[in-house]
Amino acid sequence: MAQSIDLGEWLWPIGGMTQATLTIDTDAIFANWQALDAKSAPDVETGAVVKADGYGLDAGRVAGALASRGVRSFFVAVAEEGIAVRKAVGNDPDIYVFSGMMLTDASVMREHNLIPLLNAPEQFARYRAELPDAPFGVQLDSGMNRLGMEADEFAPLRGDAGDARLIISHLACADEPDHPQNTAQLAAFRALTDGLGVRRSLAATGGTLLGADYHFDLCRPGIGLYGGAPFGDARAVVKLEVPVIQTRTVMENETVGYAAHWVAKRNSRVATIAAGYADGLIRAMGGGAVKLFANGVPCPLIGRVSMDLITVDVTDVDDVPDQLELLNETQTVDDLADAAGTIGYEILTSLGARYARVYS
Ligand SMILES: *Cc1c(COP(=O)(O)O)cnc(C)c1O
Repeated sequence: MAQSIDLGEWLWPIGGMTQATLTIDTDAIFANWQALDAKSAPDVETGAVVKADGYGLDAGRVAGALASRGVRSFFVAVAEEGIAVRKAVGNDPDIYVFSGMMLTDASVMREHNLIPLLNAPEQFARYRAELPDAPFGVQLDSGMNRLGMEADEFAPLRGDAGDARLIISHLACADEPDHPQNTAQLAAFRALTDGLGVRRSLAATGGTLLGADYHFDLCRPGIGLYGGAPFGDARAVVKLEVPVIQTRTVMENETVGYAAHWVAKRNSRVATIAAGYADGLIRAMGGGAVKLFANGVPCPLIGRVSMDLITVDVTDVDDVPDQLELLNETQTVDDLADAAGTIGYEILTSLGARYARVYS
């Protein structure tokens, strides 16, 4: 069993690394924000979605880095996440909460200066009654049928909604530019909100890329900031280096790992590295497409992904380095996601708690 795993939490990687290291490039996050901001007109604000702990990369760090460079609006899923973001960004930026106001949230909202995006007439009534002077936003359903008020629920509130700080809705199919639901939701959102005189936001990353019709007053990208599809021009944000625990020779026809799944077709060198599905490197990515990079040389991941271990065919590398790279500019979260039959969002938000994290 890898010594490194037992010691991991205590050690910062200096020289001989014992723990897999996730390096998060906050300059790249800001560069992605700038590139997305440049997609909309200068009078359209660009915010940042930092829910799910900043897509797994630490909401406080991400929001703090963006706020210090001038980003003024942040979005989280639930009030508790907003508390961490508030600490990181200071008092000025707006922090919106997608879930609106759940039962016990009013005091949290007030204390931490959070803005709920009210999703239902009950939320609206309760929040306005409890905190009549506090800022609020509204989320409308324009066809996704997940969160937000329906047209008939919103109609009686239209007058009061004129005081909202922001009215939003969310697109279900924005990563497919030709999907007819995009224009249908755009029309529905316009019909619900035209003439209200309130700032509006419809676009996440996908919507930001759909063009000016979708931008309204504020775009709110998430995944594109973190380097993920559908923002194809994104800079890579994460690098993951995993230490080699040991290497061995495996003779032709010997097998490697659980279920004897990989069979050596030649005499091989196999490196065993210290991360696995418990670190978010989900087992489904072991289908043959994923590489580990040894000083830039791609080496195939072989055999089944174990809980704490992955095996790699390093036969073609002369000097196996102390660590292999799994995520970098060449192999991104989307590549891992494709190999595993999922999406970059899921890979990012699954990256585990066991990595040493370095912010650059
Ligand atoms: C997650 C989310 C976003 C950000 O979406 P991305 O696809 O990550 O850009 C924006 N708005 C809402 C309501 C969301 O739930």
